[in-house]
Amino acid sequence: MAEERSILLDEARCIGCRECVELCPQTGGTQFPVFERGERVPRVANPGSCLACLTCVEVCRSLALTVDGLRRWEGYVDPRAGNKEAAIY
Ligand code: SF4
Ligand code: SF4
Repeated sequence: MAEERSILLDEARCIGCRECVELCPQTGGTQFPVFERGERVPRVANPGSCLACLTCVEVCRSLALTVDGLRRWEGYVDPRAGNKEAAIY
């Protein structure tokens, strides 16, 4: 069974643009979508489907998403990179 990711959506920051819903490769057209559209803001429905690609973290203009503790505004470290010191920016 796939490792379940920790996906936090800060509802206070979120503006409900749904960019994360639209661009998550594990949401559109999948059987167990990570995100559901929700009402004011999206809802994390199936964190077990997440691949930790960090697309949602990168596109979120409101800095509202955290995946496995990786947050854009802190200069997150790409977990796919061998060098854990190599922040993306
Ligand atoms: S991309 Fe960010 S601001 Fe837009 S709906 Fe998703 S969490 Fe909210
Ligand atoms: S990290 Fe990738 S797979 Fe996981 S919720 Fe974000 S966009 Fe979807």
